Amino acid sequence: MPNKKNSLITSECQLTANNYYTHETDRAYMSVSLFKDFLKCEACALAKLNDEWQPEEDKTALLVGNYIHSYFESGESHSKFIEANQSSMFSTRGKSKGQLKAPYKIADEMIKQLANQKLFKQLYEPGEKEVIVTGEIGGFPWKGKIDSLRKMHGFFCDLKTTRDIHQKIWNNQTRQKENFVEAYGYYYQMAVYIELIRQTFDIDCLPFIFAVSKQTPPDVEALDFVSDESQELLDLAMQDILDKQPRIWKLIKGEEKPKRCEQCEYCRATKQLTKFVHADEL
Ligand SMILES: [Zn+2]
Repeated sequence: MPNKKNSLITSECQLTANNYYTHETDRAYMSVSLFKDFLKCEACALAKLNDEWQPEEDKTALLVGNYIHSYFESGESHSKFIEANQSSMFSTRGKSKGQLKAPYKIADEMIKQLANQKLFKQLYEPGEKEVIVTGEIGGFPWKGKIDSLRKMHGFFCDLKTTRDIHQKIWNNQTRQKENFVEAYGYYYQMAVYIELIRQTFDIDCLPFIFAVSKQTPPDVEALDFVSDESQELLDLAMQDILDKQPRIWKLIKGEEKPKRCEQCEYCRATKQLTKFVHADEL
């Protein structure tokens, strides 16, 4: 891995908390979420990045995640978040008018569960929050945002909300069931964050995940990546990034034609039948 401290100069645009999530900086820096988008469907990822199409997806899961993150960031962040998202969070009609909608009531239970954990309070809460890191991976610029970083202690924590921490999720490509860490690409995220922290601050940090479930009552788990098996999965994730990102950058620059998955929301919305598919191959 290259170890460039001045990695910001690899890109023409300066990253800030305000422009971190814009498509402008997405075009200048690869991120784990953009990379995972391209793995799912190139045509869809590119159409989103080029502002040619927006998914109809339910925003609630994202908002619930941000609601919980902002709570542990600071009282000010949490108030700001609630203020900005009032219309989606509070019921506006019927008996429950003015009350928090159900997903946010569950989110409050998830917050309570985390706040009740000594380990979480010791490790996550004192960390520096939402730390932007950048660097070069395989010769290309990358960005990342660390939920909670403890530079002096040599570790960082990521907070994940998930339906059920112990459920196994089917992977159609490998034809195997995976836990949520693998299924949602969190090995990619941890591998990239270790590398970007190393390049930004010149320190080696251990990754931890605090996971909290949307069940009643919420389940909670603290995950590390120190086993040989975990290390191998982190290495495989990084290798996969090195192998696949050159094509993704070509797609972004318009030098390659994106492949359609023909199954995602974007592909269904833009589908044109041109040939027959053998019935037995569906
Ligand atoms: Zn698709």
